[in-house]
Amino acid sequence: SRILVGIDGGGTRTRCLVATTDGRVIAEGGAGPANPLVVGLDRAVENIGQAVRQALEASGHTSAAVGAVCAGLAGAGQPETQARVAAALPGALSLSPGTPVQVVSDARVALAGALQGRPGAILIAGTGSIAYGLDDSGRLLRAGGWGWILGDEGSGFTIGRQALAAAFAAKDGTGPATRLGDRICAAWNLQDLTQAVPRIYADPSAARTAIAGLVPEVVQAAEEGDAVAAEILARAGGDLANLAAALLRRMQLREPLVATTGGVLEGVAAVRSELVRRLAELVPEARVVESAASPAAGAVLMARQMAG
Ligand code: BGC
Repeated sequence: SRILVGIDGGGTRTRCLVATTDGRVIAEGGAGPANPLVVGLDRAVENIGQAVRQALEASGHTSAAVGAVCAGLAGAGQPETQARVAAALPGALSLSPGTPVQVVSDARVALAGALQGRPGAILIAGTGSIAYGLDDSGRLLRAGGWGWILGDEGSGFTIGRQALAAAFAAKDGTGPATRLGDRICAAWNLQDLTQAVPRIYADPSAARTAIAGLVPEVVQAAEEGDAVAAEILARAGGDLANLAAALLRRMQLREPLVATTGGVLEGVAAVRSELVRRLAELVPEARVVESAASPAAGAVLMARQMAG
């Protein structure tokens, strides 16, 4: 076997990296969402397969060359979920019999990429959100990440859902005026905001990614001076700080490092700056650091460890 496969499966996108056995990345591939709890096992496996095939093709290798696979997936925090996906992958990826396959949470591979084995925490805010870390005695701990129905504070979905709720509140007169309704109608091609309602309830899991996709509209509105939009982004940053702080307090790190990843934390300056500001108040000794490498690169690192 000559190559390693690392996968980061998120709530909206799946990324795959193919690397040589010494860890040098030679190709990449992508596909749609791979959270098995939200899109179902079959679609998650299908999208992982698509991302891997694309990367393999670009690398010039076939699946026969694969020495190890590590997949970090949103929604795969629990052993039963991990086992179900791990059982389906060898067939879906046409792996040679006995090829080691590991399925873990997306937070686990993000941590491996960001801090490369050093103790510390990773804070993810993409479609969903979670705080996850490795403490000084080697324990892995989490806060949040309970999914869009139960949690995901500060996530893209939560920001988009709050934007919709604020737009309806403005329409009803129960909340302050905001231009979010007009922006959402323009982005989704609606004559009226109420047309969003049947579309959302018709297919909640598809709606989840579409709602998270409203983040740029909220950012635009905030930049144009919309106070309601600005407040939603600030709240997301504060909620993420809270999540990280709760985890750091439990972890008792000698050096409380927090790395960040995900579209919201990487792409939305207003959320990130509020996170940094609020975390400094909650845990003054915390240090927000650059990630050394991406979650998919973290998955390659873990695949490399599996291959020995
Ligand atoms: C999922 C978690 C995931 C987090 C970050 C949440 O929606 O439930 O499993 O780690 O998003 O992607």
